[in-house]
Amino acid sequence: MKNLSERDKKHLWHPLTQHRLHPDMLPIVKAKGALMFDDDGNSYIDGIASWYTAMYGHGHPDIVRAMTEQMQTLDFVMFSGFTHPPAIELSERLMAILPDNQKKIFFNDNGSTAIEAAIKMALQYYHNKGDKRDTLIAFENGFHGDTFGAMSASGLSSYNGPFEDFLLKVVRIPVPQENTMDSVLERLETILENNACAAFVFEPLVQGAAGMKFHSAKGLDKLIAKCRTAGVLTVADEIMTGFGKTGPNFAVNFLEQRPDIICLSKALTAGMFPLSITSCSMAVYEAFLSDEVAKGFFHAHTFSAHPIGCAAALAGLRLLNSDAIVVRRTAIEKAHKAFATEIRTHEKISEVRTLGVILAIDLKEKTGRYGTLRDRLYRFFMENGVNLRPLGNTIYTLPPYVITDSELQHIYDTIKKALEIV
Ligand SMILES: *Cc1c(COP(=O)(O)O)cnc(C)c1O
Repeated sequence: MKNLSERDKKHLWHPLTQHRLHPDMLPIVKAKGALMFDDDGNSYIDGIASWYTAMYGHGHPDIVRAMTEQMQTLDFVMFSGFTHPPAIELSERLMAILPDNQKKIFFNDNGSTAIEAAIKMALQYYHNKGDKRDTLIAFENGFHGDTFGAMSASGLSSYNGPFEDFLLKVVRIPVPQENTMDSVLERLETILENNACAAFVFEPLVQGAAGMKFHSAKGLDKLIAKCRTAGVLTVADEIMTGFGKTGPNFAVNFLEQRPDIICLSKALTAGMFPLSITSCSMAVYEAFLSDEVAKGFFHAHTFSAHPIGCAAALAGLRLLNSDAIVVRRTAIEKAHKAFATEIRTHEKISEVRTLGVILAIDLKEKTGRYGTLRDRLYRFFMENGVNLRPLGNTIYTLPPYVITDSELQHIYDTIKKALEIV
């Protein structure tokens, strides 16, 4: 077990990493609840639930048990030609909490491929109707994943640079704010008139990778309604926001409009297994029904609807609105609000925002996405036993629901200390 960092360097290539500049990777050998432990026995509070996945805490016994039982009963079977109880039950449970226009569930194995499927669904939806459409609409600074379709929809150029000439056709609109609503609507109208648009892809209410930036449900409702009138499909990317992060089960619960397609992953399986779903309305599904085989949706990944992932998701759903978890979700929301009020006027802070269990703090000082201030903050947090990964000059936390009051207080105290030091 010794020298894990050294052994790591020999053969491993890490995501989102410039290996010439990056320090050694920290070996994590154990995790439980809101804590992760390194190979020297130091603990770290997982302040972002390992990329918003482990919302019920690491190693939750209910989820471990459900996965273990599933493994011993049916490990895996391909999902073409066959079906299995965990996928069926998961579809039923998800239908009970998704907006009521959602009728069908398509499985993939990660967030990007859920988006990829949504985009392909939208393009083929029109193709099957003999209506060739070649353009997507997306928000500036959105993030939807790293495969080509998802990357096309993403507007964060720091990731897309080398691939820009190879992407799908996407036109962007700014996220609507109170004072820009009318101009954004006009811009959308012009786009709809001048392009053959297939879909509008968006992160509802919170743009995660952009720095936990919020926009209003009212504004988004207007954009969705405009797309609906123009006959353009709408795709809500709830991969980050899904399963209670913003307060209700889904961020789209704040909307009056209902999107045609919804993508879920991350907390879907509580961080225990890679799995994702793309759900859609009956109208979308019906466009694929035909006597012609080729009008079906010929998209598959080997591990689609993996039974062990479905079992983890089912156990997670049982926890999501359980008394114990709801108490914690409410407590975190309240604590975030109190902390936001406490630090709002700090001289180094330009804005503090909270929504559900998300707390984001913008600093006045600017820094690049991987700039030195960002790196200093990250190091400071880790040295103080907290895993927080600032996005540029935005410090944010999105803790597991099971985080204790004292662990949450330690995150706040560490942020306060960081503001004095950096
Ligand atoms: C993480 C994320 C994705 C991509 O999911 P992966 O599983 O990393 O491919 C897409 N959209 C949003 C909003 C995300 O947060």
